[in-house]
Amino acid sequence: MNELSKFLKKNRNLEINDISIIVYSILQSKEIEKEISKYFKNTKIVITENKEILGGYIIKLNDLMLDESYKSRLMALQSHIDNIKLHSQDSVIDDLKRGTKEFKAESSINEIGEVISLKDGICSISGLKEVMNQEILMFENNIKCIAFNLDMNEVGAIILGDYTKIKTGDRVIRTKQVVSVPVDESLLGRVINPLGETIDGKENPDITTYYPIEKLAPGVLDRQPVNQPLQTGIKAIDILVPIGKGQRELILGDRQTGKTALAIDTIINQKDTGVISIYVAIGQKMSKIVNIVERLKKYDAMKNTIVVAAGASDPAPLLFLAPFSASAIAEYFADKGKDVLIIYDDLSKHAIAYREISLLLRRPPGREAFPGDVFYLHSRLLERSVKLSNELGAGSITSLPIIETQAGDISAYIPTNVISITDGQIFLESNLFNKGIRPAINVGLSVSRVGSAAQTKAMKKVAGKIKISLAQYRELEAFSQFAGDLDNNTKSQLNRGQKTIELLKQNQYEPYSLDAQVISTYAVNNGYFDNIEITEIKNKENNLINYMRKNHEKLSHTLLDGIWNEEVEKEIDTLCKEFFSSDEY
Ligand code: ATP
Ligand code: MG
Repeated sequence: MNELSKFLKKNRNLEINDISIIVYSILQSKEIEKEISKYFKNTKIVITENKEILGGYIIKLNDLMLDESYKSRLMALQSHIDNIKLHSQDSVIDDLKRGTKEFKAESSINEIGEVISLKDGICSISGLKEVMNQEILMFENNIKCIAFNLDMNEVGAIILGDYTKIKTGDRVIRTKQVVSVPVDESLLGRVINPLGETIDGKENPDITTYYPIEKLAPGVLDRQPVNQPLQTGIKAIDILVPIGKGQRELILGDRQTGKTALAIDTIINQKDTGVISIYVAIGQKMSKIVNIVERLKKYDAMKNTIVVAAGASDPAPLLFLAPFSASAIAEYFADKGKDVLIIYDDLSKHAIAYREISLLLRRPPGREAFPGDVFYLHSRLLERSVKLSNELGAGSITSLPIIETQAGDISAYIPTNVISITDGQIFLESNLFNKGIRPAINVGLSVSRVGSAAQTKAMKKVAGKIKISLAQYRELEAFSQFAGDLDNNTKSQLNRGQKTIELLKQNQYEPYSLDAQVISTYAVNNGYFDNIEITEIKNKENNLINYMRKNHEKLSHTLLDGIWNEEVEKEIDTLCKEFFSSDEY
């Protein structure tokens, strides 16, 4: 009765117009009623008998509940034991067995709640006063949910799993764990869902290390500047908008402009570099995800890749969790000094899933009906990209978030948000794509704010010039449409621009290594391609690269190491002269 009088005393000043008691046996009720009458004089009391509670009683004052039933105590005890088992704290179990530590059944009021309302995968739970933000809660049928909105009298939770099996009145137990995912090397080559369960039909690996999915991003002292290149193998990117390890570079463009293709090619290029890739598929069709996995396997890149997938048919909470779980996995590898590349495909669908959850939780909508904190959502996610300091092992997390635009509008809410968070963007355009310029990168609107610091010396040398000639070409191209007669200088600049653009075209799954990129850029910069027909350019370039690898093997290695000096330049020039003056190739 002690708990009961405490509970009544605490709430005696509230306006209570509804008191109900559930008792195991009606014989108990007299005593309880007597206690209640001390605090609440004229309120009507409804008493029901229920054998299911196994003993004890439950009392409700309006929505406030005190659960002193034996059943809830048993459940609390069970969840406590499960918790210990889950975290394999053998020493604690031993202590309990030996009786050296007493198991203290904590008051059940704050540990067990009840579903009071439910809609589309979101439920409100009463009780659970001490629940933590993002704590996992468990229903009796083992379905999990996550505490999301913590209000005075109720908790808003998002249900992970089949929410049709939940009904109002169901019991919910605290697990006292915030959401975390299993992390381990054994995830490499696997496809998992955002909870860390494998979904590729093979057995779950046995993993004992867990990382929380939300973690504060490393601070200033834990970081060092981006200073190493991450080769994507895509010429237009590595030359014009280079990416460094630890950078966040946004890929944005309309539907079907080759966004995913860029990301997959970048993963494929990492297959022998030791970089671990994580591909996060958010809200895509499962058939697309299967295709991507097959591609990665075909090009032997799946061995150091993890795919985290929340498909289009998965509930919004899973889509919401996906990038955060993937970040946690990335952090595990980065903490071990590894370089990680993580691709979020795509964050537009992530924002939409978050909007759905927020609206159901009745959070106030803002611009485009997105909740006010959608900016914070993506900035705290992308802030976790990092190049760690040498003291912390110098690992890195490079992020390539993808955003889908509508009709090329980069000034919509989500695109502008993510543009301002990232260190640059690669903008893909439908009309370039349709003209056959693939990858369809709009060179004028694409930038990389930190990556050029990480370019190798050789690449820096040749890249500067190509940027200038492309910029000149863009200006002249617009202008030349009006002018009839062009002087020779303009004509040759236009010609150089066309050849450059042709050389920057690249098929899917055909990565270029650094030496190949440098030599062909050098050749076009210095006019060696000027007299080659457009249709012949690709062929000629291939032959040039093969020629170098065959006859100037040492030079090819020097370029791969990124070395550039007068001697190297002289050798490249001799090579180009040899090659382009001969009719053999
Ligand atoms: P979605 O908006 O549907 O996600 P997306 O922008 O991710 O599309 P992709 O799926 O990558 O676009 O590519 C669209 C199509 O273009 C695919 O059929 C792909 O094979 C083709 N494609 C992409 N890049 C190239 C390329 N460089 N060369 C030739 N074809 C390409
Ligand atoms: Mg795509």
